[in-house]
Amino acid sequence: MQREPLTDPDWDIPRYHKALDFDQLERDYPPPPDYFRTVFRMSRDELRALQERRFLATVARGWQIPFFQRHWAKAGLKPGDIRGLDDLTHIPPYDVHDVRASIEHKPPFGDFMGIGPDELPRMPMVVQTSGGTTGLPRPMFYAPQDREIMAILGARRWVMQGIKPGDLVLVNYSLGLGNGGHAHREQLWQYTGAIPVMTGSGTSTPTRRQVELIKAWGIKAILGSAAYIRHTAAVARDELGIDPRSLGIKMIGVGLGMEDRTILEELWDAPVFDGYGTHESGAMAAECQHRDGMHINEDCFIMEVADPETGSLVPDGVKGTTYITTLYKHGAPQIRFNVNDISAIQPGTCACGSTMRRLERIYGRNDNMIKLRGANVFPEAVGAVVAEDRRTNGEFFIFVDYVGPEKNSEMDIWVEVRDHATAESVRVDLERRLREVLSVRVGVRPVAIGELDVHTGTARNSKIRRLLDRRKQG
Ligand SMILES: [Zn+2]
Repeated sequence: MQREPLTDPDWDIPRYHKALDFDQLERDYPPPPDYFRTVFRMSRDELRALQERRFLATVARGWQIPFFQRHWAKAGLKPGDIRGLDDLTHIPPYDVHDVRASIEHKPPFGDFMGIGPDELPRMPMVVQTSGGTTGLPRPMFYAPQDREIMAILGARRWVMQGIKPGDLVLVNYSLGLGNGGHAHREQLWQYTGAIPVMTGSGTSTPTRRQVELIKAWGIKAILGSAAYIRHTAAVARDELGIDPRSLGIKMIGVGLGMEDRTILEELWDAPVFDGYGTHESGAMAAECQHRDGMHINEDCFIMEVADPETGSLVPDGVKGTTYITTLYKHGAPQIRFNVNDISAIQPGTCACGSTMRRLERIYGRNDNMIKLRGANVFPEAVGAVVAEDRRTNGEFFIFVDYVGPEKNSEMDIWVEVRDHATAESVRVDLERRLREVLSVRVGVRPVAIGELDVHTGTARNSKIRRLLDRRKQG
């Protein structure tokens, strides 16, 4: 049998450090601290001109990619129709369903990316995936330019939120197929001067060991999921007899969503900073020290907020679904990608003096929405109500079932209470409050601390589950 030689002296192996002009890249997409002297304070006119240039380059790139050719042709667009940002809304949005259809159309990677393992000339690439709750996770290949600018974007966030060169930073995002931990390592290591300590979630490094490392090594900051960082504090206090406030953590970085930051801040005696990103596009927006909305990296993204039903854009301050257009991606640009996250553009300007517009917090995901007897319920909104009641520790899990011969939809929300003696009054108060906020009656069941871990996966994963809709099981 003929085999290919194991090695071939003529193989052309692409090398990362030769794949980019790093000096030019940094001038175009400044990392910290240059970013704060340049783009962060750029005049809106100058920014608009920069966005215009990058947008047209992105659209031209889109026309080279079969998915966009098809999607845009279907809407009657021809190359040359989009002449500038004023034409942005003529481009049809798309969402994760279109991406899945692209993968089915051309398995296994789809045709929505302009790069892939068989494309020439070869370039050094990495692939990470979305969480993927059904079927295989969705792949995303990153070209060197994409990966490097994503690292710069993340670093801007961490420096803005107080991470300094030399700081040891614990990262408990998962180290698997998802971008989570990997992206944070690149951001911190390459562009902040801080030193990432990649514990991953409780599955990679037991939580007790994570606490021991924080203490022994003098860790200065923790990045990860809010629920897991709360859990880490409980393990420190209850299992190791260490008061987390004594550990000297100076900042905590999370994607807060609708979670309450004060519980975490009290546990660790450290400020909690919010940020927003996705695995496809990296860090899109983050709070500055004023923590009054998240500044968008507007040299790299155009963010629009649209009515989820009609698709028409809504004014600043009005909530809707967010559309992303990337202004830096070569491999798989996103051009009016409907992320299905609900937020709003925050009106006004920030006291920090930045000209970058701000995104309000992420209020929820459209595809998490549960229909319950005519009402639309977001798990994130439930979480916000639970966290307000300080007799709970903020942990909750939602079960939805058909009940009785009529098959009525019922929602049962389990919450962890600190003191069993308060359970009955917590139940009564939360059921009343949730009915006010959600406009539909739900049940509350108080349980002991830690009892929900098996459902939420808090102790094991950085991807926390909050919902089991058993109506879909039978
Ligand atoms: Zn600011």
